[in-house]
Amino acid sequence: MSEMMKALVSYAPYDYRYEDYPKPEAGPGEIVLKVKGCGICAGDVKAYHGGIRIWGTSEESRYIEAPCIGGHEFYGEVVELGEGAGDYSIGDLLVSEQIVPCNECEFCKRGIYWMCTRSAVFGFKQYANGGFSQYVKLGKNCINHKVPGEFTAEQAVLIEPIACGMHAVEKAMIQHSDVVVIAGLGAIGTSMVNIAALHLPKLIIGIDILESRLEMGKKYGADAVLNGTKCNVAEEIRKLTGGLGCDVYIEASGSPRSVTQGMDSLKNCGRYVQMGVFAEEVTADWNIIGDGKELNIIGSHLSGLTYESVIHGIKNGAIKTEGLISHKFPLEDWAAGFKEAESRNSMKIMLVP
Ligand SMILES: [Zn+2]
Ligand SMILES: [Zn+2]
Repeated sequence: MSEMMKALVSYAPYDYRYEDYPKPEAGPGEIVLKVKGCGICAGDVKAYHGGIRIWGTSEESRYIEAPCIGGHEFYGEVVELGEGAGDYSIGDLLVSEQIVPCNECEFCKRGIYWMCTRSAVFGFKQYANGGFSQYVKLGKNCINHKVPGEFTAEQAVLIEPIACGMHAVEKAMIQHSDVVVIAGLGAIGTSMVNIAALHLPKLIIGIDILESRLEMGKKYGADAVLNGTKCNVAEEIRKLTGGLGCDVYIEASGSPRSVTQGMDSLKNCGRYVQMGVFAEEVTADWNIIGDGKELNIIGSHLSGLTYESVIHGIKNGAIKTEGLISHKFPLEDWAAGFKEAESRNSMKIMLVP
């Protein structure tokens, strides 16, 4: 009988159980971490509510391999090292990239491992059980990074979401003459304001519907903020840009309304980056993209090669983290944590096993 641990196990939509689960053991090339914290992602909340891209419409189209343990925004302390698991020591703090690439498919071979066609994201497969748990196993293909000892738990948990935000900002290819709009100032959007500001563009405009988040956006480097419920955002952006519109619109809210607002706000040849995740299909007038403005529509998925930069940036202070995690809950109170994550009044929520 293997040793047991406590974990939050996903069985089906609305059927998540905090229960005993076999504690993982490190085989060759594998590492076991004692989890010290794990953030709740919008994707985790979506999974709980039966998100169609996760649970599919049939057994075949299902991404999640339930029952499994959720959570990909974790970090922890090395407690077990398998043979050949890399240059690590017991007690090291590690974070592992959210995706476990196959290293064999076309995208992995091209180095675009975050688009791996056979990938597992932690928390959705049994062989990549996630961090809503006392222990987590990092398999052979995991991409691990050391977390500096001086990092707070909040900073360590924020590495993953900020890495995703940095990837989206990178895709926007910001120039110094750009007016950059970031729509949706949750923890990732707010951090994107910070990272965009490091590129020294002409102007950064943050958009949200909550005043508290707009205040955060200003603290993180937005030159102007707009409340989408209190003004016509596209009109205000045109007023701020001599009637032309913005050069870059990074959509980080996952609200369909923000998509049409972005297309409306962009200037001719502007760059639209989709980072937010939607719960429903989006309807928009595609003529604006071609016949109208010749827009560049750019997708951003997970993170690619950004973890080390994020760790470096947090360490030297260029990347700020204050206030991005608004609540901490013990793992056993996960239901309260998920509930808080759904309320738009909070920033990121962290569970501590
Ligand atoms: Zn995430
Ligand atoms: Zn692959």
